Order: sequence, then C-alpha cells, then structure tokens
Amino acid sequence: MSILELTAVELGKRIKTGQVTVEEAVQASLDQIKKAEQKVNAFVTVDEEGALRRAEEVQKKINRGELRGPLAGVPAALKDNLCTKGLLTTCCSKILYNFVPSYTAEAVLHLERAGAVILGKTNMDEFAMGSTTETSAYGETRNPWNLDHVPGGSSGGSCAAVAVNECFYALGSDTGGSIRQPSSFCGVTGFKPTYGTVSRYGLIAYGSSLDQIGPVAKDVTDCAAILEAIASYDPKDSTSIRREDNRFTEALVDEVRGLRIGIPRDYFGEGLNPQVRDTILGAADVLRQKGAIVEEFDLSLVEYGVPAYYVIASAEASSNLSRFDGVKYGYRSPSYKDLYSMYKKSRSEGFGPEVKRRIMLGAFVLSSGYYDAYYVKAQKTKALIKRAFDQAFQSFDVILAPASPDTAPRLGQSLRDPIQMYLGDIYTISANLVGLPGLTVPCGTDSSGLPIGMQLIGDCFQEKKLIRAGFAFERSRCYQGPAMAKELEQSTPNPYVGEASSAQGSIWEKGGK
Ligand code: GLN
Repeated sequence: MSILELTAVELGKRIKTGQVTVEEAVQASLDQIKKAEQKVNAFVTVDEEGALRRAEEVQKKINRGELRGPLAGVPAALKDNLCTKGLLTTCCSKILYNFVPSYTAEAVLHLERAGAVILGKTNMDEFAMGSTTETSAYGETRNPWNLDHVPGGSSGGSCAAVAVNECFYALGSDTGGSIRQPSSFCGVTGFKPTYGTVSRYGLIAYGSSLDQIGPVAKDVTDCAAILEAIASYDPKDSTSIRREDNRFTEALVDEVRGLRIGIPRDYFGEGLNPQVRDTILGAADVLRQKGAIVEEFDLSLVEYGVPAYYVIASAEASSNLSRFDGVKYGYRSPSYKDLYSMYKKSRSEGFGPEVKRRIMLGAFVLSSGYYDAYYVKAQKTKALIKRAFDQAFQSFDVILAPASPDTAPRLGQSLRDPIQMYLGDIYTISANLVGLPGLTVPCGTDSSGLPIGMQLIGDCFQEKKLIRAGFAFERSRCYQGPAMAKELEQSTPNPYVGEASSAQGSIWEKGGK
C-alpha cells in the first residue's frame, strides 16, 4: 500500500514508528497535488515551501517526544474560509482576493498543536454559499469520481482533495450541509459537530447561528481523532460551549446492539433518487444485522426546513458581509466618484451573483415591513423543527437518512435554477437549524459509479453515538477512493508541474471572475 492510500491515523502511526518520515508524507501529497490539480482544481493556494519547512520542524518535535498524538506529522488542507496567519484566505471571492490574515483560526491552531502540516487552502463556493463549489471565483472544483460532475458544496475542494489523496484529511465548514453533502458526493467521511463544539473564531462568518467547522477524512476513526483535536471551549467565540466529553475516539467501538436507529419516513418520499433510497436502506439493514433496533417514524415539518433556513441564513449573511466594503481590506474598485460610489462599485464588482442574491434576500427579510412576515416566522418555524427533533430523540439514539436527494449532478446543471439547488439541501439543513451533530459515511455508489453517503444525525452532544454507528457500519466494508487517485499517483508528472504552487497570491491567474 502506498503512503497516499493510508488514512490519517494509519499514517500517524507509521510516522511515530519511523516507517515513514513527515517529509516523505508531505512530499507525496505535494506530488499528488501537482498531478491532480489540472483536473480537479481542489486547491486554491498551495503552500509548498511552508509545508516542507513545517515538516522538518514537526519531525524534530516527534523525534524529541514532544508530539505524540495520532495526527502528528500528517498533512492536511483547510477550506479557504479559515483564517491562516500569513497565508492568503479569500473565501473564494474576488472581494477578498488579497486578504492575508494576521491571525489563525482557533480550530487550526489546535490542529497545529496536534502536529498537523498544512498543505494549503481548498476551493469552496463563494463565502460558502452554494451546494456545488461552482460559485467560486477560482472556477469550479471537479468530482474525482467523474470529472463531468460537481463535488458538491460548499466544502467541495476539501472533499475532492481528500478523495483524490492530495491530503490525508481536511477541515470544512457546514452551515446547511456543506460538509455532509460534498462528503456524500465524493465518497468520503464528513462530520459536523454540535453547534458550539468547535470554536468559530477565525472562520469567516456566513450564518453565524448555523456555521460549524468539522473534519473531512477517509473514515470515521480519522474524523473522531480530528474532532478530538479541534473541539475546545474558546472564550473568543461567545457561542462556544464548555464540554467535558471531548474524547471522541473512545466511541470507536464495533458495537451497536440495542442502539435505537430511527428512519424518518418523510425523508424517503418523493424527490429521492430510488438508487439513493435503496442504498441507504441497505446500510440500515447492515446496522440492523449487527443488533441495532431500526424503526421508521414520522419526523414532520421537513418541508419547512428549506424556507426557514434560507431566510435565516440570508439574513445573517447580509449582516455578516456588510463589513466587506472596500475600506479596510479586500477589493476596492479602481474607479469611483465619492465614498458612496466606492462602496457600491467595490461590492458590485467584488461579489458574485449568488452572494448578491443572498445579501438582497437577507436585507429584504430584515427590513421593517417584512421582518415579522419572514424573519420572525422563520425563527418560529425553527423552534417547531427543534421540538420535532426533541421528540424523535426521546425514542431514538440516532436518525439515519440520506445526505442528499441525489448523487452529484453534472457541472452547470444546478446553477441554472437556484431554487432547485436550495431544495437539494432538504436533508441536511435541519441539523444546522437545531444545532445537531451529523456524520456522513460512504455506503455505496449509483449505477454510474457515483458515491452515495448515508447521514447519521444525533441529538445535541451525542456525537459518540454517531461515531459508534458509523464505525460499526464501516467495519463491514473497506474504504475505496476513486480510481483516479491511484492512476494519478502512478502517472508521471504532467508538463504543468509547479502550476499549483504558483496559484498563491493571484485569484486572477487561476481564472477569477
Ligand atoms: N447549500 C447551503 C447554502 O448554500 C449550505 C451551504 C453551507 O453549508 N455552507 O447555504
């Protein structure tokens, strides 16, 4: 087995025993990035020099016994909405095309303390608004399972990078499904923790009451280890929660006897691709055979999740994005008459169409004439959805559902009809509205070979139950990435070698709009 095929935890073990050096692992990732990027476009910035320097430093610390954790020396990537000191952070928007933060996100600092080597930043929908990674100013990411299809979004770069072995794991963010849905489309494992578990300090905000950072990796073991490293109470994030039960790897036990798993009938009706339905129900059977109690139930209110989410997320986005005005940082229009026209032109030229749509929608639902009719109503709907989940969790430990109604659509198919795209979020957004943890685990492919992931949703702070169910399921199969990952690894570098590393610094060079 080559280095690149190892999971993060397996690689960590080999580094510890000296079978693999940190530099070898980093170099293997950088080589794979150089080969894959022309096809996949998962990275927007590759910090080759920084990663190699850091590899040396981490290796020394491991040798001295100062770094002993499971992730020490393992190369990772970060979604481009996580601030990294000294390293370009753009949210894949022209408006932040030159933003180099003066500080690093708290979650990333925790990873660094655990010995991570950061390879670079991954592509995403502009400001995390989207479900396909096509609204990025750097151009779309392609799905390594089939390059004519999207990787999902908005953390599509992180998920595609893990799938094609450009990194051993990545961080993403999930406001309405952006870790869980692209994980399903790319055949990787993605975990959105309970709201408040991972500090949002240094995560460029989209919908602050919904955003959570989480891991994307090859299996549940990796996700548990990464979450354990990044979960922390942080006084710099006023919504951060002090939790005592952060030892997530303790839940990696292959035992689900007696675990009560609920299948919401409302998630399996009209609009769900029958191949996705059958695959997810097949996964439920695997857990049943292992001793879990699997039952169907009615969750209710499912159809109200999408409208409530888009009202709340857009309202928060319109407020959060008001800071990008061309004054303090980011893009400023080169020609303007006065202060007002400078704001107007900078924002008009700096934001893409999807972001503008959300800002306008958000400003509309918050305006005095419509606040009660839309925003307050959406908040009330959210409270009702929470009640429905509270009730469900009186009978069940875990809810098992699809992560998306379909497998990855073709490139260009979704953006033609934004409302249709929004409806595709139906199975993931409720967890954000209510703050619940959700885990996507690959469980099969459709007839054209595109991956399908099942989503496990738990009550607040019940990540361990999800880890247990996901881990037990995963024992019944072994991780398989796309054929492309192996083919690329065995190929000789193409004539464009080096291109990826020169992406840093210029959004224009890589096809920015
Ligand atoms: N697709 C959803 C949206 O566009 C979710 C995005 C996310 O989770 N960041 O808002």
